[in-house]
Amino acid sequence: MMLRNITLILFCLSLLACGSGSQQGSGSAAASGKTFRWKMVTTWPANFPVFQEGAQKFADDVRTMSNGRLDIQVFAGGELVPALQTFDAVSQGSIEMGHGSPYYWAGKIPEAQFFSTVPFGMTARGMHAWLFHGGGLEMWREIYQPFNIHPIPMGNTGIQMGGWFNKRVDSVADLQGLRMRMPGLGGKVLKKAGGNPVLMSGGEIYTALERGIIDATEWVGPFHDMRLGLNRAAQYYYYPGWHEPGTEFELLINQAHWQQLPDDLKKIVETAAAATTDWMYISMEYLNTQALAELNTKKNVEVLEFPAEVMAELRKLTVVTLEEEAEASPKFKRVYEAYKGFQTEYAKWGEMTEAAYQRTKQ
Ligand code: CA
Repeated sequence: MMLRNITLILFCLSLLACGSGSQQGSGSAAASGKTFRWKMVTTWPANFPVFQEGAQKFADDVRTMSNGRLDIQVFAGGELVPALQTFDAVSQGSIEMGHGSPYYWAGKIPEAQFFSTVPFGMTARGMHAWLFHGGGLEMWREIYQPFNIHPIPMGNTGIQMGGWFNKRVDSVADLQGLRMRMPGLGGKVLKKAGGNPVLMSGGEIYTALERGIIDATEWVGPFHDMRLGLNRAAQYYYYPGWHEPGTEFELLINQAHWQQLPDDLKKIVETAAAATTDWMYISMEYLNTQALAELNTKKNVEVLEFPAEVMAELRKLTVVTLEEEAEASPKFKRVYEAYKGFQTEYAKWGEMTEAAYQRTKQ
């Protein structure tokens, strides 16, 4: 009898605890029944396969899982705001959500590039280990905090291709004077190697390469590159994409709007984002496998591996470039040190697993 009373008291206490918790926490009882209608703007063109498609799939999943309580309408780049104003629109709170990649904001936040990708950086596996367990995501959130943005990783392209060339790259000397569309840190490295990096949007690449305005370009991988027709504009297709070994995408959420969501909707957003990351990554792996098989049937294209000497030189110049950037900015240096520290340790494990396993096929 005594025991039953105690159990009853404990049960009541736990109910009280739950009750007060739900009222004090971010997920208030009133908010849990509320419907949220949000907008998401992206940096991608309308109908862009995998990237824009993935953002739409995320919104559809959230709507289904929340039974319509979080309804996100997705807009491609330029539909509501210009693609490269996605970050500012979410930061100001006029738009609740955005989708892009942190290196687009390098002009404003140079160290954000480590949360996207850097030349000779980590592949998706290492990136995700660093972000979710190695302190990377905490650092990322701290860096976006002054901009009122709560970032969640959402998507990865996998290792990209080195690009399309109208001249063979047989040695480091062949990079001299090479006019190549290559944005960001990769472009800075190419310049140190004697090349001329050119900035150009996706829409301009085909014509520039076909007309010889540029000698070479990078884009993504076989699937997206063939859709752009690059196999008709250049003869040599080089790998690997040393400049983008696994570009991470991001879900940007305005901090004030994020705090208004009840806990179950927050969890749904996080779970749908994780599922979308996986979906984008495996979609890229599959579609690139299919596209490469098709590309191999095309007689006018030669798929070539960069010579080891060229990779070694670009790797060396990447270290010089990153050290220079770190020297110029304490913020960049802090993220660089953290990233490099994890990458160095992870490389030892990667050497014994992925690298050693891949060598067994030779
Ligand atoms: Ca690229």
